[in-house]
Amino acid sequence: MIKYDFIIIGGGIIGMTTARELAVRGASVALIEKNTLGKEASWAAGGILSSMRPWSENSASAELSEHGKSYYPHFIKSLTDEVGIDPEYVKSGLVIIEAKHVNDINYWARSKCIKVIGKIENLSADITLPDQAVLLPEIAQIRPPRLLVALRESLKKMSVSLYENTTINKFVMNAGRCEQVEYKGGKLSADSVIITAGAWSKLVLGDKCVDMNIKPIHGQMICVKPIESVLRTIILDGGHYLIPRQDGHVLIGSTVEDIGFDKKTTLTAQLELQSWAVSVWPKLKNATLVKHWSGLRPSTDTEKPFIGLVPNFKNLYFNTGHFRKGILQGPSSALLLADMFSGDFSFMEIDEFSLRRQINAAEIA
Ligand SMILES: Cc1cc2nc3c(=O)[nH]c(=O)nc-3n(C[C@H](O)[C@H](O)[C@H](O)COP(=O)(O)OP(=O)(O)OC[C@H]3O[C@@H](n4cnc5c(N)ncnc54)[C@H](O)[C@@H]3O)c2cc1C
Repeated sequence: MIKYDFIIIGGGIIGMTTARELAVRGASVALIEKNTLGKEASWAAGGILSSMRPWSENSASAELSEHGKSYYPHFIKSLTDEVGIDPEYVKSGLVIIEAKHVNDINYWARSKCIKVIGKIENLSADITLPDQAVLLPEIAQIRPPRLLVALRESLKKMSVSLYENTTINKFVMNAGRCEQVEYKGGKLSADSVIITAGAWSKLVLGDKCVDMNIKPIHGQMICVKPIESVLRTIILDGGHYLIPRQDGHVLIGSTVEDIGFDKKTTLTAQLELQSWAVSVWPKLKNATLVKHWSGLRPSTDTEKPFIGLVPNFKNLYFNTGHFRKGILQGPSSALLLADMFSGDFSFMEIDEFSLRRQINAAEIA
């Protein structure tokens, strides 16, 4: 039986960045994915490197998001230098047109010393913005499918063992330790096992962690090609957004549907997204529909991810539950967990994301 320092279960952005961060530090790592790496929520994401509502994010999650924003340029440079694949990190800025939150946004931005531009001109010849729109010029975007391909290449270069099309069907436990994991055709063991299975994390753990509440929240997105694309900046309006890509495509997102493990795309959602987009940018009426897809975001009750030890276990961990911010927070969450294993000081307290602490807080409340 092969023994690793770490076995990681689930190969989306969280599992891949966690595997890379540990491998960089010299650990032997196996990454186990039930299908193909990077094809679920992480592939479906828009790649906005900002929270959807940064002005009302809970403080621990906001700290992780802020770290994500400042860490991304370094993370992308090291990945691009290593594998030569450009994930299209672009500082395109973000315009928030949600007028009812303008005061909150301005207050939040001032408290964080973030530059805000209230009056926006020349965004595009034919987009009319409300008077109170706010521009956050520092916000960047990434193209998740390209990022995931780059991460896969990096993991191969770092000799991370990639087990695709592999489903774990048994954890062999002894005195609170996960001694080995078994899949059809083999078994593996490791000093530590980390669950990074996104919306499926609760299913992976089964009755080993009844307290963890993670559920799938369905998000649909469409990609269109306008006749002429003059949009350069992301536009955010409540849960809806337009993301202009460098090649002229525009993503229109997204729905938020609590319908279980169902990934179907619907005409109703497509029409709703198109109708909102045309209300913001009328010329999109004639845009060609290129693609329509969906993904399952891993959502938690506390709007914070769970990062750290699974309660009552000694070597079973998770890094999961990033909901709408997994692309933004993924590299930083991986860093935080890897720092914990190395015994290094990190950029914030990992305990903020401990499930035990979140359960205790809920009980006291
Ligand atoms: C439409 C949409 C738009 C989004 N836009 C953004 C955005 O702009 N910015 C942002 O930061 N975030 C965004 N998100 C959120 C982001 O995509 C998620 O937070 C992130 O992808 C979660 O990553 P993950 O690795 O935890 O999950 P996933 O990418 O879902 O990966 C989990 C993996 O675990 C695997 N798995 C499951 N069960 C098992 C098992 N038993 N054994 C082995 N493997 C298993 C799955 O096959 C999957 O590959 C968006 C999400 C959606 C759906």
